[in-house]
Amino acid sequence: MIEERFDAIVVGAGMAGNAAALTLAQRGLKVLQLERGEYSGSKNVQGAILYADMLEKLIPDFREDAPLERHLIEQRFWMMDDNSHTGLHYRSDEFNEEKPNRYTIIRAQFDKWFSKKVQEAGAVVLCETTVTELLQDAHGKVIGVRTDRKNGQVGADVVVLAEGVNGLLGTRAGLRNRPDPSKVALAVKEMHFLPQETLESRFNLKGDEGAVIEAVGTISEGMTGMGFIYTNKESISLGIGCLVADFERTGQTPYGLLEKFKSHPSVKGLIEGSEVKEYAAHLIPEGGYKAIPQLFGDGWVVVGDAAQLNNAVHREGSNLAMTSGRLAAETIFQIKSRRDPMTKENLALYRKMLEDSFVMKDLKKYRNMPELLHIRAQNFFLTYPQLVSKAMKEFVRVDGVTKSEKEKATLRSFLAARSIKGIIGDAFSFARAWR
Ligand SMILES: Cc1cc2nc3c(=O)[nH]c(=O)nc-3n(C[C@H](O)[C@H](O)[C@H](O)COP(=O)(O)OP(=O)(O)OC[C@H]3O[C@@H](n4cnc5c(N)ncnc54)[C@H](O)[C@@H]3O)c2cc1C
Repeated sequence: MIEERFDAIVVGAGMAGNAAALTLAQRGLKVLQLERGEYSGSKNVQGAILYADMLEKLIPDFREDAPLERHLIEQRFWMMDDNSHTGLHYRSDEFNEEKPNRYTIIRAQFDKWFSKKVQEAGAVVLCETTVTELLQDAHGKVIGVRTDRKNGQVGADVVVLAEGVNGLLGTRAGLRNRPDPSKVALAVKEMHFLPQETLESRFNLKGDEGAVIEAVGTISEGMTGMGFIYTNKESISLGIGCLVADFERTGQTPYGLLEKFKSHPSVKGLIEGSEVKEYAAHLIPEGGYKAIPQLFGDGWVVVGDAAQLNNAVHREGSNLAMTSGRLAAETIFQIKSRRDPMTKENLALYRKMLEDSFVMKDLKKYRNMPELLHIRAQNFFLTYPQLVSKAMKEFVRVDGVTKSEKEKATLRSFLAARSIKGIIGDAFSFARAWR
């Protein structure tokens, strides 16, 4: 292993780690990045929507050579029961702009490209290297890492923990707790390959245009969860995720839910005749603001999913990961430029920068949402989607029954499923959590 000492060691080469390592190297710091996978991206799973703004802050001209699939011009939200969906559908030609705002990507390819940029900026990147332990001095200050390589100890002024949601290093060192099963989702995803023309005609797309569908309802069997369908160039990423605590409670399996989602009449036709080439499972932090652990200490900072920085309400994670990685790196650069030590006191600037950014502002706004959705999952993910579907069916069917009768029947079915007090309570709690 390398004998030298580094200004910073970054553990992990996902979105957060690459953003941190790139920024540190661009600022001229001596950086070592360690990744346990065969290459950056080999272990990473995402839907995946990339948010351009956050990448642009790191690599302004990324559109020139990044492996992007499609730019998104259409967003559909579905509320499903077993046979139907009620949808909200937004499509705009204005998203066919010169610099589109959102793209679909395939993480294995994207992360490889991102890692190349990190290396070009001057960081030393070592893959197939698992960090097994944080090295601490007698006062608990992190002073480096131990890896699974021979003589694999390396020292640094500061360690950036970008090890993802299930990272064991921070928990083993007592810097944070293991994620609580009610605050983390397990998502499964498949890649369905189709000829490009077939895919484009099924989703009404041309050129590099893309569409995404996000779905809630009976597909999650009353658990807090969501399904997604994202269009890539020649494939569809399709998946579903629910809270781990809900899987434990109900005995449902992620694979069982995925099969149900795929066989739903609204989904089946979209993937018909496709060839499934990949299957992956991964955790997603869903606890929001209240689940964020201590973010910095003597000689260390934690970024991205490892810090639970994920906005489950808006399905954003990679952008929070990139932003937190960048801000942690900027903090380290500032401290280094002043020739100050990487103490807890000095690294507190990272938290301050995060608080001033959209990351903490958004997470703070939705701080009560994860608990609400978990506690009232049966109502929000099962009862209401079923009631809405029933109401829509009545609304559009013309069968000689008067409109007044239909309205009364709809109201009766709502009240049979939930009391007036219950419905008002749910609406009020939801509005308050959204505020
Ligand atoms: C199914 C699914 C769909 C998603 N869809 C979206 C989406 O559409 N848009 C979006 O913005 N977000 C999405 N997310 C969330 C997004 O993927 C994450 O927020 C993001 O990847 C977090 O980046 P990260 O760098 O913190 O962690 P990761 O990308 O998980 O990277 C962590 C890295 O650390 C490495 N590592 C871990 N431990 C060690 C160790 N001890 N030594 C060395 N290396 C180590 C891992 O191998 C990995 O490469 C999705 C997530 C899932 C699971």
